[in-house]
Amino acid sequence: MNPTAVRVERNDRLLKWFNASARDLPWRQTVDPYPVLVSEVMLQQTQVSRVIPKFDAFMANWPKVTDLAEAPTDELLRTWSGLGYNRRALRLREASQLIAANDWPDSIRGLMDLPGVGPYTAAAIGSISFGEDTPAVDTNLKRVLSRWAGEPLDGSALDAYAHDVVGHPAGTWNQALMDLGATLCTPKTPECSRCPVSEWCTQPAVYEPPPRQSRFEGSHRQLRGALLRAHLAGMDLHEAGHDLDRSEAEIDLALSALEAEGLINVAIQDC
Ligand code: SF4
Repeated sequence: MNPTAVRVERNDRLLKWFNASARDLPWRQTVDPYPVLVSEVMLQQTQVSRVIPKFDAFMANWPKVTDLAEAPTDELLRTWSGLGYNRRALRLREASQLIAANDWPDSIRGLMDLPGVGPYTAAAIGSISFGEDTPAVDTNLKRVLSRWAGEPLDGSALDAYAHDVVGHPAGTWNQALMDLGATLCTPKTPECSRCPVSEWCTQPAVYEPPPRQSRFEGSHRQLRGALLRAHLAGMDLHEAGHDLDRSEAEIDLALSALEAEGLINVAIQDC
């Protein structure tokens, strides 16, 4: 079978599978770019199961991009609490402020100029909400496409391959690949016997899973999260740090970082 026929049949099979078994996710009820932006930023470093309730709370508090543009910092961070990497919330609000003032950018390049929006998030929003014909390449897509190609793909080779095989509409194809990567084509034990495109997959074992994230317990990230939660609850910040057996120096360092990033204001809290 020639490459074009393979691409057409594989994408056809993939999209039929997706139509029948797509995950029921709240941000998929619409192609409005605002919920797509919120969900994609939340999903950048957080699992789907943890994002769902936070996404619902976020949309209940700030149903429109103009609402989020005016969200108070404490309320914003309280709603975000539990998702981690809290600077994402501030950048998301900054992006909303720019959109509220200037409307949505009209290109992938323009979307990438928004705070917190990288190439993947821009491509996801562009393809799902604005009909851009472009693949949204993240680690899931990288893994699945490497297995299709039969070799580990990265950088420009990955980009070229993704543009060569992308199906239409690209927004649906991207979401189908996300679901395939999340449910069947998983890093360690892909379920090839249930895969809709196994007929055209070259090498399931080709992809090396990325190294696991460093331990959360005892990390600087754990301390920062605890201090921020204490701040939002109006509790003593140093006590919260001591509860984790952290030294004064560690606590001060973490507080300075949180303050520099605009996540807390120690001067106000200490008054
Ligand atoms: S056949 Fe296996 S390795 Fe290939 S795409 Fe499907 S699940 Fe992934």
